[in-house]
Amino acid sequence: MTIDLGVYLEAVPVSVAERVGGAREALIVSHENPDADTLGAALGLARIVEFNGGRATTVCADPVPPLYAFLAGIEAERMDPDPATAYDLLVVVDCGTLDRVGAVGRRHAALFERLPRVIIDHHLSNPGSAGPSADWIDPDSAATCEMVTLLAVRLGVPLGAADGALAAALMAGIVMDTSTFAHPNVTPRTLTIAAALVEAGAPLAEISRLLYRTKPDAQLRLFGRVLERLEGSDRGRVVWSSLFDADLLATGTSPADSEGIIDLLSQAEAAEVTVIFKEGSGETRISVRTKPGGVDATVLTGAFGGGGHARAAGATILLPLEEAREAVLAVARRLALAVAR
Ligand code: 5GP
Ligand code: MN
Repeated sequence: MTIDLGVYLEAVPVSVAERVGGAREALIVSHENPDADTLGAALGLARIVEFNGGRATTVCADPVPPLYAFLAGIEAERMDPDPATAYDLLVVVDCGTLDRVGAVGRRHAALFERLPRVIIDHHLSNPGSAGPSADWIDPDSAATCEMVTLLAVRLGVPLGAADGALAAALMAGIVMDTSTFAHPNVTPRTLTIAAALVEAGAPLAEISRLLYRTKPDAQLRLFGRVLERLEGSDRGRVVWSSLFDADLLATGTSPADSEGIIDLLSQAEAAEVTVIFKEGSGETRISVRTKPGGVDATVLTGAFGGGGHARAAGATILLPLEEAREAVLAVARRLALAVAR
């Protein structure tokens, strides 16, 4: 291996390395409505624990969307911990707050409370946690998988371990959260870590194609309906669209198929803030994207109990779509108009 990550290894907290390195039975939990970063980080950590002779269970509150079925080891993903296993460590990955683990955390509150904990996350909005937790929160990291790669190297695990499954899982998260190195969250460190993963065998081009340029026809039709419905205000500085249950019904798609629409809407030329409103049962999911140097997306979603990153954030609002839209757009317009260019 010619790419040396040595200069970056000091970023890994000793407490995190010791807990993960010493785990015999790790319970590794991703956020609800999972994406490739939270799943890839969990799978990567599982391979790290296994390389060190331990065992790992990966858990997510929601079923894994078909888009991520290509991730090696994802078939072992569970929606609850294994009741027969005596876990000795809880690892929470890519969660800006602990309740992002979703229903599984509420179902197993006592277990989650009792286990020694490690949090690995890169959300700007993460406040850190109290209690017996080793937290590693690095908002300068493009992806949680960027951090897990450093943890692997810090623990002496070769990136080519597990027949390439480790490197592929970690690369998937980096590709996901950078949109294949196109977002402003990419740093020289991101690229160096990605280079080390490619050197270890990660199929970068294939992962990018599967995550970003491969879709069922029905999903493209769903995108068409939502794109057609695009609206804007303030000379295009705020742009939004809405996705109704009827769109899913008409196209034969599921909520997970809405992933990626926001990235098309946010291509609107003048948009400082782009929002998609997704109808749920009595509640509304929003995804927000903002332009570099402009509105902090977490300020907008934070006003509605959500969080995320400066350029990409989300929230769930307990109001029907029309009411949520009115409330969110009022704040979005105020924030967008305050941007001086
Ligand atoms: P997306 O719009 O792609 O669903 O999410 C963008 C970013 O915001 C992701 O990093 C995601 O983890 C975060 N995010 C989305 N929804 C929520 C939410 O309801 N609460 C918090 N804290 N973060 C969210
Ligand atoms: Mn992430």
